[in-house]
Amino acid sequence: MSRGHPGQLLPEDHQALLLRLPAEERAVFVARCDSVELLTGECLAIADQPLRYAYFPLDAVCSLLSTSSLVGPEVALVGNEGLVGATLVLGVAAAPFTAVVSLGGRALRISAPRLWRELAASVRFAQVVRQYVWVLAADLGQGSACAGKHSVEQRLARWLLMASERKRSPALAVTHIQLARLLGVRRAGITDALHHLQGLQAVVQRRGGVQVVESAALGQAACACNTAMDARYEQIFARTSPPSDRLSSFIFHNNDNFIR
Ligand SMILES: [Zn+2]
Repeated sequence: MSRGHPGQLLPEDHQALLLRLPAEERAVFVARCDSVELLTGECLAIADQPLRYAYFPLDAVCSLLSTSSLVGPEVALVGNEGLVGATLVLGVAAAPFTAVVSLGGRALRISAPRLWRELAASVRFAQVVRQYVWVLAADLGQGSACAGKHSVEQRLARWLLMASERKRSPALAVTHIQLARLLGVRRAGITDALHHLQGLQAVVQRRGGVQVVESAALGQAACACNTAMDARYEQIFARTSPPSDRLSSFIFHNNDNFIR
């Protein structure tokens, strides 16, 4: 992992979650972060261990894993729509999941103590992160149901689609064995599914990875879970912000208004 000044890497508007903040507030927050280059396979957090940092991916793609094993299976995928370490907003320092980088790239990093100071200082920022925690919780449920109900090919198509969107690139440097571990299936199942997706002209397999060639075809091959997740994300953030001085009571005691 290398570090640099935020301005030297991707602009912060590549971070969709931070775009929920007013521009001036976003600029102040970004200036308090380190820009880091995350390497594929890098471990960002270990389940039940203290979270030292929160990461806001710019084009890195991270996987949350349910155990301290660094290989999977994945319970949720996090890219530029979210952050790794979101549960710090709950005031709990221990990581609920292991987090590893599945596709290397750039991210904004902030220490846990500094994040807490920012959460205390900005009602709007705290609201955005809390809303993302809700989205993540809903995604975990959706992902669990997906693993039990949908085929390997549907799940693989969904993963490739989500990863490509968050990586902002059709070229994904992933191996069959990596995909098998993330989805918790046999490698042969991934090989068969990729072969079929290639026959649909949705992807091509290249040396060292998979290339998305037709995202619409990939979307048709995927289950509807990704669409449901995206819709939920947009709905929760489309809500009108409540008055800041009433925010805490609004969130915790008026959930009928908070969650549609
Ligand atoms: Zn599904």
